[in-house]
Amino acid sequence: KPIVLSGCQPSGQLTIGNYMGALKQWVAMQQDYDCLYMLVDLHAITVRQEAKALHEATLDGLALYLACGIDPQQSTLFIQSQVPEHAQLAWVLNCYTQMGELNRMTQFKDKSARNINNINAGLYTYPILMAADILIYQANQVPVGDDQKQHLELARDVATRFNNIYGETFQIPEPYIPEFGARIMSLQDPAKKMSKSDDNPNNFVGLLEEPKKIAKKIKKAVTDSDEQARIYFDPQEKAGVSNLLTLLSGATGKSINDLVPDYEGKMYGHLKTDVADAVVALLEPIQTRFHELRNDRSELDRVMKEGADKASERAAVTLKKVYEAVGFIPHP
Ligand code: ATP
Ligand code: MG
Repeated sequence: KPIVLSGCQPSGQLTIGNYMGALKQWVAMQQDYDCLYMLVDLHAITVRQEAKALHEATLDGLALYLACGIDPQQSTLFIQSQVPEHAQLAWVLNCYTQMGELNRMTQFKDKSARNINNINAGLYTYPILMAADILIYQANQVPVGDDQKQHLELARDVATRFNNIYGETFQIPEPYIPEFGARIMSLQDPAKKMSKSDDNPNNFVGLLEEPKKIAKKIKKAVTDSDEQARIYFDPQEKAGVSNLLTLLSGATGKSINDLVPDYEGKMYGHLKTDVADAVVALLEPIQTRFHELRNDRSELDRVMKEGADKASERAAVTLKKVYEAVGFIPHP
């Protein structure tokens, strides 16, 4: 089976964007791929996190992965910091990545513009750690949203460079582009993507939010001031409306083409009500399962330990190859 790897940062509560762009796709891939899914806490600290909040968000994330349908029997589910090989490989890859390559990364530009008081080196080298995450498992396919495509491209370049110097060491990963829902936009500013670490909570729907609050946020979503208020899909001209249609499609499983005719002659309010209902209906059973799991710490510990052990065993194989390749003497 091809190897698949992906992860979310426990940098806040996972959003409906993370669900549609990541978790939903991950669940669907478990049958056909050898999947590794992680919570990337090492990545999360590139932006300042409160320790307690990071701790809780990581446990929440783990329980959410399970509640959304990630099966730890079928997939390897783990917390990044519990598998030290990621950081070890990242150091080596640091030395095979050019500053010029990192300078081109748009996520760094965006995030450093938003965090002017903490433009740390980790934020800058984030894509190298991500390359290590992928390459250490010899992943073939990496499901990533649009926002991460550039990072995956860098991982491919670094892996190719290393292979050219030392011989075949890394599998060159391919992006896995999901058929649907590559990108959910911010509710208040549909020109930018929805992000869990957004300062304005009205921009995102958290997977654990109360149904009433979710409905309220969706009803407040920005549409546009088109005089005729027509509902159709056009992400450029009608970004807000198109985002709502994408959410509705993702939550109901109906295609956007099938949905649009239902709104002929209807108002934005109708669409918003339907989106709110569909998102709530999608999330309610997930939230119920989440609360059961989240209250069972010993079960979460068991899942974490098993996942970290499985992942570490695999990661160690690549790390050993890399260390030997560059000339490090193995621990006698
Ligand atoms: P942060 O704001 O902290 O960067 P985030 O919401 O961007 O959080 P990440 O942890 O960076 O989430 O990304 C986790 C996964 O979710 C990645 O695969 C990413 O491509 C996907 N993803 C993130 N935001 C969206 C979105 N708005 N729509 C679809 N997929 C998304
Ligand atoms: Mg992100």
